[in-house]
Amino acid sequence: EGINFDAYDDIPVEVSGLDVPPPATTFEGIDLEEALNQNIQRCRFVKPTPVQRHAIPILLAGRDLMACAQTGSGKTAAFCFPIISGVMRNRRQLPTKGPSDGDLTTTFPRALILSPTRELSSQILGESKKFAYHTGVRVVVAYGGTPIGHQLRDLEKGAEIIVATPGRLLDLLERARVSLKEIKYLALDEADRMLDMGFEPQIRKIVQQMDMPQPGLRQTMLFSATFPQEIQRLASDFLSNYVFLTVGRIGS
Ligand code: ADP
Ligand code: MG
Repeated sequence: EGINFDAYDDIPVEVSGLDVPPPATTFEGIDLEEALNQNIQRCRFVKPTPVQRHAIPILLAGRDLMACAQTGSGKTAAFCFPIISGVMRNRRQLPTKGPSDGDLTTTFPRALILSPTRELSSQILGESKKFAYHTGVRVVVAYGGTPIGHQLRDLEKGAEIIVATPGRLLDLLERARVSLKEIKYLALDEADRMLDMGFEPQIRKIVQQMDMPQPGLRQTMLFSATFPQEIQRLASDFLSNYVFLTVGRIGS
């Protein structure tokens, strides 16, 4: 796809923030769980893309991140590896699903990845399942435009990571089939497209639910191809002490 490995070192990168963790030039230089290193090899990823070089160490250090990079730059792995690693490192005793109340089971994922469309969500699901292979971290997807039954049965088995579109996630929250009370990692992928599609109110409602138990407990990462004012506003509302990363030339 869109990754031109020869042009890597010509790509302009801009990083700002306080005490920014240094980038990694190789995957070996990144401290990931052994299972994740094996999955990187299984995917035949030889070296990290520019956005991965910077974003992975920043996210592994627990920092919030606003990242702007164009399509095809490898953003999915940039947020999935730190999320999976974080989930593995902070395994809770608590189950990922609650006790059944009659027929109703509530799932308590540790990570939420929001994406604008069904197609993108299923792409993220496919990639993240490869990245989470043999880690014991379960990923499920929830998008609209399709009957909810299959997604409900999949959720009932419990999930550490949920990949979702905003509308379908709100539906699941209203049905109390998913709770965001245990969310530690929140990733907004293609944030500019989500806003273009009018999802801002839904996204704000979702983040509000997350802040209810203990505000500020989550690590938040925002990914966008462009950086218009609406995204800048989301960044200042949702992120704290964040690192700002731009890879390539970015439109506003
Ligand atoms: P983006 O979300 O920025 O548009 P993706 O995460 O979808 O980009 O990645 C684009 C393609 O590049 C995918 O097929 C992905 O598997 C591949 N890819 C990602 N990182 C690497 C890497 N380090 N080495 C080789 N291929 C990669
Ligand atoms: Mg993407």
